[in-house]
Formats: sequence, C-alpha cells, structure tokens
Amino acid sequence: MAELQAKNPDQPEFLQAVQEVVNSLAVVLKKRPEYRRAKVLERMVVPERVIMFRVPWVDGKGETQVNQGYRVEFSSSLGPYKGGLRFHPSVNLSILKFLGFEQIFKNSLTTLPIGGGKGGSDFDPKGKSNQEVMTFCKSFMSELFRHIGHNTDIPAGDIGVGGREIGYLFGQYKRIANQFTGVLTGKGFNWGGSHIRPEATGFGTAYFAAAMLETQGQTFEGKTCLVSGAGNVAQYITEKIIELGGKVVTLSDSSGFIHDPDGVDRQKLNWIMDLKNVRRGRIEEYTESFKGSSFTGTDPTLRYNPMWDIQADCAFPCATQNEINDKDAKHLIKNGIKIVAEGANMPSSSEAVDLFLEHHILYGPGKAANAGGVAVSALEMAQNSARFHWPREEVDRRLQQIMRQIHETCSQAAESYGTPGNYVNGANIAGFSKVADAMIDQGVV
Ligand code: GLU
Repeated sequence: MAELQAKNPDQPEFLQAVQEVVNSLAVVLKKRPEYRRAKVLERMVVPERVIMFRVPWVDGKGETQVNQGYRVEFSSSLGPYKGGLRFHPSVNLSILKFLGFEQIFKNSLTTLPIGGGKGGSDFDPKGKSNQEVMTFCKSFMSELFRHIGHNTDIPAGDIGVGGREIGYLFGQYKRIANQFTGVLTGKGFNWGGSHIRPEATGFGTAYFAAAMLETQGQTFEGKTCLVSGAGNVAQYITEKIIELGGKVVTLSDSSGFIHDPDGVDRQKLNWIMDLKNVRRGRIEEYTESFKGSSFTGTDPTLRYNPMWDIQADCAFPCATQNEINDKDAKHLIKNGIKIVAEGANMPSSSEAVDLFLEHHILYGPGKAANAGGVAVSALEMAQNSARFHWPREEVDRRLQQIMRQIHETCSQAAESYGTPGNYVNGANIAGFSKVADAMIDQGVV
C-alpha cells in the first residue's frame, strides 16, 4: 500500500478501493503463498491500459468546448474489459481507477466471463440540450471506437450515461466502424438491447438485500426504506421494494432529498420516472405534486446528511461514492437500521463500513449488491452473440439466480475465512480468488 500510495498520491478514491480489498486479503495470501510469489496483487492494482483523450465539441451557442475522455482497461483475466462510462464533472483518473478496480471483482462475482474496465468524461450532461449531448457523444466515440470492440472492451452506462447517451454513442460507433456488433450494452430493446437491463442494477440490489434479510428469517414486508439518488438504480430499486411489500420514504438528487412518510407508491414512482428520464427536472418538484412530503436542500456546511438520520429499517445508497460518512453511519446505527445494501459504487466511506461491520449490521458492499447491472449486460452480450432475444421472464429468472449465487458465494467465502456474515471479506476474497487463479494460469502478463 505504501508503494501504491507513493506512486498515486493524488488518487484518494483509488487508494481507498484498493485498501479495502487488501484488508480482506491478508488471510488469503497467507493460505495461498503462490499468489504472493506470482505477485498477483501487485500486478492487479496496475491497469493493463489507460487511454486518455481530448473530446472537442461545439455547444449550442456555437462556442468550442473541450473535455477530457478516459477509458481504463483494468483487467482482462476473465474476459474482455467490461464496465460503464460515467459522464460527470467529478470524473478524474482517481475516480475511474477506483471504479475500474472494483469492477474487476464485481464482474468476477457475476460468474460470467467478463474482465474489468471503466471510462467516461468530466462532461456534465446536466442542463445540456439533446443536441449538445449528441454532439459530445459523437466526438467522444470518434476517439474511443478504435480502442473498443465486442471481443475487446464493451462499455455501458453509469452516472450521466443512460439510454439516450448509449444510443448516440452506438450510432457513431456503427457509422465509423461499419459494424453492427454488441460493442455497448444498455442498448435500446429494438436494436440489440436486453429485457431487464434498465431494471437490472436496482432489481439486483433488492434481490441481494432480500437474500441477506432471509438469513435472519425476514422479508421486505412492512419495512421502511431510505433510498438515495433518483436515477436508474434508485428508480428500479424503489419499484422492486414496492413489489416486495416495503415502503420507500426518501429519494434524492444533488440539490437535496424528499421525505414522503406515506411512501412512494407506483403512481408517484411513475411521476418521478417522467421527471428524471423525460423532463430532466429536480427532485424538489415532488413536494408540489404530493402532499405530506417535504424537501430538504443539500447543506454543504453540515458534516452529515440528515436523510440518513430518518428512522428506517433498510438503507439503499444509490447516488454516488462516499455519500455515507462516519457520522451518517452512526445515525443509521443509532436509529436501529437492520440492513445497508449499496446500489451505488463505494457509497460508504471506509470509516462507515468499519462501523457497520462492528455493529453487525447486514451490510452488502456495492461490488456484490449492485452486480446485477453488469450481470445483465453480460447476458445482453450473450444474446447479441446468438443474434437472439430472451423473453423478459427468462432474463429476470437468470438475474435472480445470479444474485442468489453471489450472495451464497460471499457468505461461504466469509465463513471459510473465519468471518461469517462479513460480506465485505466474502466479496473481496471470492472475487479476487477467481481472477488470481486465472492470472496464474495465464502466466506473467
Ligand atoms: N456501471 C454499471 C456498474 O457499475 C454497469 C456496468 C456495465 O453494465 O457494464 O457496474
């Protein structure tokens, strides 16, 4: 870690993601000296390739803009690089290396043959017209296309990249590569997408949480749930929680959060989906349409988020990295939270994770709990290769099976290394071992 820190002093998120994995691996490296000898971990923390490129484009006012584009091709031990693209002003190399690193283990846990990668840009789609987003996407793909391919590297969505952006990116890829292949996932259903891909991350996180609750003989029935975020993951986790009998009382965006003590029902959720996916408005508008709900604006002077201090049984952080700090974790624990399952990537700070584990909260880390999204992406790749569509029920059945399998694998790994119930250790150990074995099989590469 000291060496990695010295080499990457300006990458705190990346170091945080690696440190968490390293903490879980001491026992494994002791049991398996061949991993140490082959310098598996030392190799794994260095991306196989990092591509950085200029993305010039002209905005709606005719002014020239320039953004930074990235693709981090982290590991191809288990299959072609696979992982999303994030468009957000906070994007930098540290963020994409943390995401790419986590993706290796997440993808390994899905049981499907995919390596790990991540990419994106500091472009901010917020407030941009469709035309501007399209212009940006086409410029971005004009460089990215030469580095990706359906057997090489298959990007998808993440924060700021949804169906609209994947459409524009795919159109440009097809045009310049002169190939209609499954080079991106999250495509529209009519042109190669898979059923359940839009729902997969949210549904998958709910399935994982249901499996965790089951270990204590519990279900979602009657449980009050805090959900952060209001994007793709938050929307579909809310849908599944409603279906499973739970009550979602919060949702948020960067401007603040809404609290609806009556719960967000199906009709309110449809309204939110229209607000966020079509009108692209702010969550605050919710309170104008639904009586009894309130809005609390983000207060940057507070050292905690009051949303996590609302009494509830379950918490689903589905917004962004490090959104739950030690103070938030203490609030959740004080209020008797039973389960925290991460729809976002690394939403809990390392101090928060330590607190959850110390207090024996059922804690599902993102790399296990939110793996359903990329899992269905891999199912989309399989369907593209077969030039065939599976029915909705078939994809959902496979997603449920995969999430159960991930839960089982993590539980077993945690138990066999002497920390039963610790899904952090379970996910890191199980995810790592598969990649490490592949690296040894494939020699020094
Ligand atoms: N961005 C998602 C993730 O964090 C999905 C990636 C994919 O479908 O390739 O796993």
